[in-house]
Amino acid sequence: MATIQTALTEGKRLLRGPGKNVSACITSPSLDASLLLAHALNTTRGRLVSTGNETIPDDGYSVFLRLIERRLSGECVAYILGKKEFRGLDFTVSPAVLVPRPDTEILVETALAGIDGSPPPVTVLDLCTGSGAAAIALKHERPAAGITASDISEAALEIAETNAARLLGNAGAGADARAFHITFIKSDLFENIPGKFNLITANPPYIPSGEIDGLAPEVRREPRMALDGGKDGLALIRRIIAEARRHLFPGGSLLLEIDPREAPAVRNLLEKAGFNDIQSYRDLAGFERVMGGSMTEQHGSFSIYGKN
Ligand code: GLN
Repeated sequence: MATIQTALTEGKRLLRGPGKNVSACITSPSLDASLLLAHALNTTRGRLVSTGNETIPDDGYSVFLRLIERRLSGECVAYILGKKEFRGLDFTVSPAVLVPRPDTEILVETALAGIDGSPPPVTVLDLCTGSGAAAIALKHERPAAGITASDISEAALEIAETNAARLLGNAGAGADARAFHITFIKSDLFENIPGKFNLITANPPYIPSGEIDGLAPEVRREPRMALDGGKDGLALIRRIIAEARRHLFPGGSLLLEIDPREAPAVRNLLEKAGFNDIQSYRDLAGFERVMGGSMTEQHGSFSIYGKN
């Protein structure tokens, strides 16, 4: 009979490999084992620690071993669990959406500073919203902001709307529901987007097509549509920068998550499109992960940079 402790040890051993047919890229075997065991036993990682000597029912142990197998085959923990934490919220995820990443927290933090630094009401459009992580985190942290979120993928929008309903109470009725409402629109970038916004955010696909096959198996199981930025990685970014002006109020800003290697090219595109105050924001590894600019020379009406 396995105990929680022996199951964790065995899970870690299996995830560390090397085993046959292991195609996964497993960088945190210990964390992965505990997340999968907690999921198999329908408990939390915290409780696993405090109940290490308890025995596990045989069926729970075999569920755990099946989850370990899935992980070894290259499926990421977030898809196995069907959820991923982002800015303190548990997002539902599936292979229809990119798994929210810490990189995108930089986008959210910069957008929050922009919302705080401008007179209300602030309106935000989040393009390529995927699971809705950025849009929902913004609404959760700044309920007064008016948020619109779009994606070209119907399947992604379904997940985003499910997340909004669960995390913000989007599905309810009455004043509270309206306060937490996000408008979702199925759209190829700006195609179906009406009106103008104070801030446009996006984590568009930005990986050069030729690099996708060389990525970790976990990433290759994410929707190609959410990763593939065309030959030079800039296909979508180029379109967003070119079309953003028509959808920004004077003084409005555009904020993009980018591949740090593409930072000089993105800066150049923003300059050519007439953006001012172009700035980049670094991720925890020190790379330029987010870049933005605003649509006027005045620093008055809306400056996302006021607080930095
Ligand atoms: N940050 C993701 C990665 O490197 C890419 C996300 C994207 O293309 N928007 O895997």
